[in-house]
Amino acid sequence: MRNAIYNFPIPNNEPVKTYLKGSPEREALEAELKRQSETILDIPIIIGGKEIRTGNTGKVVMPHDHQHTLAVYHKAGEKEVKMAIDAAMAAHEQWEQLDWTVRVAILMRVAELITGKYRALINAASMLGQSKNCYQAEIDAVCELADFIRYNAAYASKIYNFQPKSAQNQINSVEYRPLEGFVFALSPFNFTSIASNLALSPVLMGNTVVWKPSTTSILSNYYLMQIYKEAGLPDGVVNFIPGSGAVIGKEIFASPDLAGIHFTGSSATFKTLWKQVGDNLDTYKAYPRLVGETGGKDFIFVHPSAVAEEVGNAAFCGAFEFQGQKCSAASRMYAPKSLWPAILEKIKDSASKVKMGDVRDFDNFINAVIDETSFDNIASYIDYAKNSPEAEIVLGGGYDKSKGYFVEPTVIVTTNPHFKSMEEEIFGPVLTVYVYEDADVDATAELCDKTSPYGLTGAIWGRDRVALEKLATKLRYAAGNFYINDKPTGAVVGMQPFGGSRASGTNDKAGGELNLIRWVLPRSIKETLVPPTDHRYTYMK
Ligand code: NAD
Repeated sequence: MRNAIYNFPIPNNEPVKTYLKGSPEREALEAELKRQSETILDIPIIIGGKEIRTGNTGKVVMPHDHQHTLAVYHKAGEKEVKMAIDAAMAAHEQWEQLDWTVRVAILMRVAELITGKYRALINAASMLGQSKNCYQAEIDAVCELADFIRYNAAYASKIYNFQPKSAQNQINSVEYRPLEGFVFALSPFNFTSIASNLALSPVLMGNTVVWKPSTTSILSNYYLMQIYKEAGLPDGVVNFIPGSGAVIGKEIFASPDLAGIHFTGSSATFKTLWKQVGDNLDTYKAYPRLVGETGGKDFIFVHPSAVAEEVGNAAFCGAFEFQGQKCSAASRMYAPKSLWPAILEKIKDSASKVKMGDVRDFDNFINAVIDETSFDNIASYIDYAKNSPEAEIVLGGGYDKSKGYFVEPTVIVTTNPHFKSMEEEIFGPVLTVYVYEDADVDATAELCDKTSPYGLTGAIWGRDRVALEKLATKLRYAAGNFYINDKPTGAVVGMQPFGGSRASGTNDKAGGELNLIRWVLPRSIKETLVPPTDHRYTYMK
């Protein structure tokens, strides 16, 4: 039995590699892109470490070339979900009783494998399967993923070290037990790192997990399972069950052992999950923990004292990187009349310099949106704007799904601050702008706060710092991640803990101790050294 008291220090963030032409990382990535493009994987369900093939299959295709199949995956049905729950429950005792530093060691090894031996593999899979360009894949699938693991090790140290005071005749302690039951991790398509973290943060704290990946990120997510195995994660600690959310959810919510849900995805899905948990509340052995980071309608609010060129650049990157498919992506902007022409000029200038297409051409800044459903949804918003007397499309507006799901970076200007695309999450490269009279800053800030049900990210811009402070106060609840003179995307683990409130989620801040604390059941233990034997109060003696 070890007796060292471990403290995993706050790590450095994983450096982002440059992928310059001719660099070793570029060559390795290009070779891996070629290999994966020439392969059709057969992706099984993985339960208790065993591969299961149901024969009920779906296809994994490249969003930028949808006739190109990357893999065929097997879908879990009712039977497999029950098996996955049983496997998670069976693995629970051994995993929770393992010294927590051994759990850390296994997960830290995952981070080492991802940033080293499998860097090209996980980047290539995220590029091909989720249509991310090389930079977007690198900051997500490698850097953020490793940061989540390494920071969580440090945060877990902090939690386990958080102990109450003892006294002369008593020893007190808090034991941080994992939840009693299994955790259901339900991940979105857009970040490989989030998919990993949704399963691994409960796992770090001693829980076992049933993981349903998104059907449009299965390629990278399946490789993660293989890397977990190589890192030494015992069978059954994470059980991988691709398939239909509704089919899988039904079995999961009926299980008395459901101890928690770790979700990232749309607000609509999270509400459905929450309702199902509510409907089954009498079934559960304990109240399931519900942790959900959901949608956003993220804003850029421009004060008249801002520098138009800086705002234009932030708007372009914040709205269009990864095709606007970040929960934090800028999707509405409030711009003062005096600055708007110059801001638009800058956005147009940037748009004229970028190319759109296949991820394997490294010159393409813009790639495809994730699938046909998403493409059609985005196109419907663009068409709505095209046909509305309240809106004008001043950039882009084109879309084409003949080869891949391509949507041009699009800017809509509206005269109605409550225009549909100012309020609803679109999840694509569409920015809607409301141009206000410079004198109406306060009233427009009020509008910004009240317009959408979400509260995820937001940015304010200006040189007048006093005015910005006033705005920051007014918009206090409008965003859980708030930026001053920066774009609303690009949160870094350990620096800007991420999550929002209102319709954007439970704000448990992924990648921090606030999140990890949701996966433990603290037990306070008091030991009295010499118990008293006389019931009388002192004054009665
Ligand atoms: P989604 O809600 O469609 O899907 C998320 C997961 O839930 C998927 O695995 C899906 O298969 C599953 N699912 C869907 N319906 C289900 C049901 N009825 N029962 C059980 N499971 C079900 O989300 P998405 O399209 O994958 O991701 C995009 C959304 O995620 C956007 O709304 C975005 O804002 C949000 N998001 C939020 C954050 C954040 O940190 N706040 C981060 C990334 C993405």
